[in-house]
Amino acid sequence: MLGAAGGIGQPLSLLLKQLPRVANLHLYDIANVAGVAADVSHVNSPANVRGFTGQTQLGAALEGCHLVLIPAGIPRKPGMSRDDLFNVNAGIVRDLVTACAKHCPTAVLNIISNPVNSTVPIAAEVLKTHGVYDPARLLGVTHLDVMRARTFVSEATGLDPNAVDVPVVGGHAGVTILPLLSQTTPALRLEQQLTQEQTEHLTHRIQNGGTEVVEAKKGAGSATLSMAAAAAQFAGKCLAAMAGEKNVTVCAYVASDSVKGLPFFAIRCRLGRSGVERIYPIGPMSAFEVDGLQKLIPELKSSIDKGVAFVTGKDGWDEQPLHNAQQRRVAARKSGVNDVRAGAGDVAGVQM
Ligand code: NAD
Repeated sequence: MLGAAGGIGQPLSLLLKQLPRVANLHLYDIANVAGVAADVSHVNSPANVRGFTGQTQLGAALEGCHLVLIPAGIPRKPGMSRDDLFNVNAGIVRDLVTACAKHCPTAVLNIISNPVNSTVPIAAEVLKTHGVYDPARLLGVTHLDVMRARTFVSEATGLDPNAVDVPVVGGHAGVTILPLLSQTTPALRLEQQLTQEQTEHLTHRIQNGGTEVVEAKKGAGSATLSMAAAAAQFAGKCLAAMAGEKNVTVCAYVASDSVKGLPFFAIRCRLGRSGVERIYPIGPMSAFEVDGLQKLIPELKSSIDKGVAFVTGKDGWDEQPLHNAQQRRVAARKSGVNDVRAGAGDVAGVQM
């Protein structure tokens, strides 16, 4: 993990240490990591923990890693949007992913640093520069949005929070977060069905869950504990799929052709041994959700373009990853993945 001594990094180190599939846990930060590594190393689980600090130890931290989690960077303060973080975090992610490209080019990357809508395209451009970009292995972590949706929907309906699931698509900032409440599973019984008012309230609360925490912390940071839980759940899924477990699905912000003009999109995916194995269609949406999708497109596009421009100096994404069947086959061959594709239908530029 890169950024292991931070607000997210510390509780996430503790949770990762307890994951049964972690054999070696390398914790890297520019400061204060030795204490975190010593502390979590005392937890009795098989993972062998080592701390690394400073630029000179970054390569050694990454060498041999199969999965890299990146929560390095500054968090939001009250009044800041995720895009306000861009100037600082863009450079941090660029430099850390450059090191990944050199020292563990085939690792699966979990990008947590915000704004995820831009930091994932930044990572993609850096990996392309080094000739090691494999779209299947680059995942932006939006699982906290899914966790919030599960929690808030279970509070509103009485469903078991461990059983309920809500796909959350789009991006990972404000209106770009689009919970598909109409696709909640298990299907809501008549008396549990959400009114339009409840749907609008829940959508707004899921989109602004991060701000709720930033404001409650009054300047002391953003979501760290729930984020650590989300990142640990997500990493656990990645590791399970990498170990050969079947039917592992997540929502993640990945290279996709789900929506025309958006080279990256948060969408339900099936994971495999080398990352994303299949991208599912968005599925049927309510009129409210279709409207939400139309509204998020310009903002998400501009965040993607901003990330791309940060690395390339050019406006926009000039190579559509997974854009057509041939590119998908090439990407699949390169990554050993056998079924990377979006849905079959294409309605007004949206793979439903
Ligand atoms: P924090 O300031 O508490 O910790 C960040 C850590 O990153 C610090 O320990 C810092 O030393 C380290 N760091 C800075 N530059 C580094 C570099 N070049 N190499 C390695 N480490 C470096 O912040 P936090 O609350 O842990 O949040 C971290 C990031 O996660 C922020 O960008 C935040 O916005 C983001 N975040 C994402 C989500 C999500 O859902 N994806 C949710 C919450 C927060």
